[in-house]
Amino acid sequence: MSERKEPKDLAATKWWGWGHPAVRYELARKPRALAFLAQRLGMREYRPLPPPDPAQVTLPASTLGHPALTAFRRLLGEERCRNDHAERLCHARGKSYPDLLALRGGTLAEAPDLVLYPREEGEVESLLELCERHDVAVVPYGGGTSVVGGVHPARGARGHVACLDLRLCDRLLALDPLSHTATFEAGILGPSLEQWLGQVGFTLGHFPQSFEYSTLGGWVATRSAGQHSLGYGRIEDLVVALGLTAPGGKITTPLAPARSCGPDLGGLVLGSEGTLGVITNVTLRLTPLPAEQRYLAWLFHSFDEAVAAAREVVQAGIHLAMLRVSDEPETEVMFELGGDGGTLSRRLYLSVGRGILALHRFTPGTSSMVLVGLEGSREEAGSAEAAVSRCFSRHAGFCLGASPGRSWAAERFHLPYLRDELLDQHLLVDTFETATTWSNLDRLYRGVRLAVETWFDRQGQGGLVTCHVSHLYRTGASLYFSVMTRQQDNPLAQWGEFKQTVSQAVVERGGVISHHHGIGLDHKPYLHLQPAERGVLGAVKRTLDPDGLMNPGKLLPTEEVAS
Ligand SMILES: Cc1cc2nc3c(=O)[nH]c(=O)nc-3n(C[C@H](O)[C@H](O)[C@H](O)COP(=O)(O)OP(=O)(O)OC[C@H]3O[C@@H](n4cnc5c(N)ncnc54)[C@H](O)[C@@H]3O)c2cc1C
Repeated sequence: MSERKEPKDLAATKWWGWGHPAVRYELARKPRALAFLAQRLGMREYRPLPPPDPAQVTLPASTLGHPALTAFRRLLGEERCRNDHAERLCHARGKSYPDLLALRGGTLAEAPDLVLYPREEGEVESLLELCERHDVAVVPYGGGTSVVGGVHPARGARGHVACLDLRLCDRLLALDPLSHTATFEAGILGPSLEQWLGQVGFTLGHFPQSFEYSTLGGWVATRSAGQHSLGYGRIEDLVVALGLTAPGGKITTPLAPARSCGPDLGGLVLGSEGTLGVITNVTLRLTPLPAEQRYLAWLFHSFDEAVAAAREVVQAGIHLAMLRVSDEPETEVMFELGGDGGTLSRRLYLSVGRGILALHRFTPGTSSMVLVGLEGSREEAGSAEAAVSRCFSRHAGFCLGASPGRSWAAERFHLPYLRDELLDQHLLVDTFETATTWSNLDRLYRGVRLAVETWFDRQGQGGLVTCHVSHLYRTGASLYFSVMTRQQDNPLAQWGEFKQTVSQAVVERGGVISHHHGIGLDHKPYLHLQPAERGVLGAVKRTLDPDGLMNPGKLLPTEEVAS
């Protein structure tokens, strides 16, 4: 697809925020949303800010001297081996709230010395050899959408650090329609991958909210979960085989639907977050494009009732592509933030009418919205809809029809742009997620919510905390929290306190520290491993990466790695 692609051919992205530099979330055109934010968060008069000037950001000087630079340039050429300010800045951080604070702050203490753009596996291998020879740590970089510090340019014990941007490795390597598999290079972005598959009548069905800017390799390296995980599975359910190139050698898992050949080495690579090597190719399980795709929304009288109904549907084995249960505050935010223009709640009000909702005792703030995605043949989607309707009716669910779901589907990749506008208005905006069994879900939800509200009280100002359940399993589900409050004088210290509060609340109440964002730097203190578990991971690391080149400081306990 892109044999001759250069870095300049890659889609431009905002270094200071989300997505395409020319796209904004038009908050100024949403008076209802602005009034809500003013009332609930004390957001003063809204003034959109111009983009920050990259020339005003100070980076530490690149430490890589000429002999090394010449060696890298000999291999890749100048265009694909960069140490200019713009490239180093674009690759200096991921997309977490503290990343964006740092980027907007004007001075970065750490930045990659070099940004490298390999085009194929052979070049990755040669680059790792060069990095080893010239004492350069390597940060594998897909779309850079990590929200846990996964692409932070730490050099560890090495003298320099290079960012290995893999987005030029984006070819379709093999397609086997009979077996429903396709093999791609790992740097391919979500839209290109789906475009390839769509042309031959298939889909992967993996749609994280970061879909437009994240890569296949990044999904595999973080054990990502897409919005349709209920129907298609998480990324690890979709991987049939993969290849990893590491300083210490290669891992190539066999291309077979299943095997009984000892422990699964592919399972070690999944979620390895760039700390073991570079994922270079992945064979994926495909699904024929569904003939029918529709979304429906329901309202329930409480989050508890909606969660109970959702659990019943999932445990009954009714085939759905997606299901999302918003708690009462999130349902209210969806009404209020979507209340202007042709968006979700506007359509909701138009199609159903406030009066009818009030008649059924559904009021914003006390109701819980459920979105359901149905896919398959017309008959399959129809019978799933009938089964869901029967179950939801038993829980007094009220069907709002297709409009809210259609709006959600149309806007789902646009919402991340809103965070940039809110940051401009000096709001702390962050999300975190966890998972637990059904029997512990309520305890975890209430405990975490209480911890956030207590933290609001401690800092002497209010805020908003919302939650949804969006990845469901027969045995349990994930909880995804969003938090907004006003920034204080030292926003990074404020965030540090917030992160510690919520992470402790999650693990103390039996939640996992991450369901799909990964560990990176930010979750490392909360990944509690037994000594033997640390030992196993350390031994794998030392085998594949004996000199500690790969993504220093992330995921793995430092002392085990070194010993
Ligand atoms: C607005 C927004 C929405 C998001 N929504 C979701 C969501 O719905 N579901 C979800 O799961 N996540 C989500 N995320 C988190 C993030 O998009 C995922 O973690 C994604 O999988 C990262 O992919 P990436 O290509 O951007 O990887 P990067 O951010 O570039 O890297 C992530 C980690 O993987 C490593 N890595 C990347 N490529 C390779 C490779 N080829 N080989 C080895 N290691 C590699 C990196 O070193 C790093 O440790 C979201 C993030 C944002 C900012």
